Amino acid sequence: MVDKYNPYENMLQVLELAAQKLGLKRNDYESLKYPERELKVAIPVKMDNGDLRFFEGYRVQHSSDRGPCKGGIRYHEEVDIDEVKALAAWMTFKCAVVNLPYGGAKGAVKVDPTKLSKGELERLTRRFTTSILPIIGPEKDIPAPDVNTNAEIMGWIMDTYSMLHGYAIPGVVTGKSIEIGGSLGRAEATGRGVSIVTGEILKHLNISKENTRIAVQGMGNVGGVTAKLLYELGYRIVGVSDISGAYYNPAGLDIPAIQAYHAASGNSLEGYTAVGVKKISNEELLTCDCDVLIPCALQNQITGELADSVKAKIIVEGANGPTTVEADEILNEKGVTILPDILANAGGVVVSYLEWVQNIQELTWEEDQINETLKKVMIRSFGQVLDIVKEHHASFRVAAYMLAISKLAKARNIRGVFP
Ligand code: GLU
Repeated sequence: MVDKYNPYENMLQVLELAAQKLGLKRNDYESLKYPERELKVAIPVKMDNGDLRFFEGYRVQHSSDRGPCKGGIRYHEEVDIDEVKALAAWMTFKCAVVNLPYGGAKGAVKVDPTKLSKGELERLTRRFTTSILPIIGPEKDIPAPDVNTNAEIMGWIMDTYSMLHGYAIPGVVTGKSIEIGGSLGRAEATGRGVSIVTGEILKHLNISKENTRIAVQGMGNVGGVTAKLLYELGYRIVGVSDISGAYYNPAGLDIPAIQAYHAASGNSLEGYTAVGVKKISNEELLTCDCDVLIPCALQNQITGELADSVKAKIIVEGANGPTTVEADEILNEKGVTILPDILANAGGVVVSYLEWVQNIQELTWEEDQINETLKKVMIRSFGQVLDIVKEHHASFRVAAYMLAISKLAKARNIRGVFP
């Protein structure tokens, strides 16, 4: 029996479907079912009170067929190996969809970082880096931020790796601060990419800006930036949410005011009020009256139980894996268009690639050059997926997998099996 919430099983189902639609032979895509390497580590951390605590960490490298492995590191209390395996595979597909010369990886530490002091968080990060050190590096596997990790944490990883090698190696991670080799435009890149493909799908479906009400789940790096950029482009954002709950106003929310409140309250929307704004639950946000729903939080948010009540005509997956397989089927039947994560949120890794290229070539580029390249890549990739949607009468998800798998199968065939 397939566990409907096991993201790795879900990935395998879509992989199988896309491979069949492409008419691939089992040998052509079998390798994509097996991550190349899974590393599990125990991380000892001296806590501020003198106790020694152990945390579990993982790094999974799914594929290096098209280039070095690439993917974020997340800190989350409920993370497990199947989640990390699925996230690593999605990175492989994501990099192939947007045609970056990378494979896919993902890392995680099972921890609630809000329960650690800054010092504990730094010690945890540095020790985790030491534990995965043999398998990472600019030419092997390049981590980046993901859920609950940020530029500061990437800086600690870069420093630890560099100290152990004896010289600065900025290309070991992306999403760093500008001062140590980070790229202009990286912090906003995922949200910028989400806003670009949202514009593309609305154009394709002939839906005007005036008739578009958007709800965004999550106020982190992806959701916050997406809401801000779409608001600046003139879209009506009717709902936003964070861990404290959701905030809804059919007439449109004042996103700059919400963001100022969020920043002033230590990155929380708790207690936010304004005329016309109704506080609703996270579930109510996902099923609220809107045209475009953009989940930018965690996986498995839009479930089979919720899918029937979803009113949005378009879902743009800012998060990785926010829609379960069951929900995906129901929503497809209802005629909802879903732009899948491996296309919609690829902007982050696109600019990570640009950061890495600047690092290994010891160059720095202007922000408009980076944003322009990102836009070009997102629009080109959207167009390529759309062509497959039309040609094969496939959903955007299956079409994006088809685009990725065809490239990966070719790469695997060309390289052959060693020895
Ligand atoms: N964590 C992000 C993702 O899931 C970015 C990965 C990267 O930049 O390597 O796409």
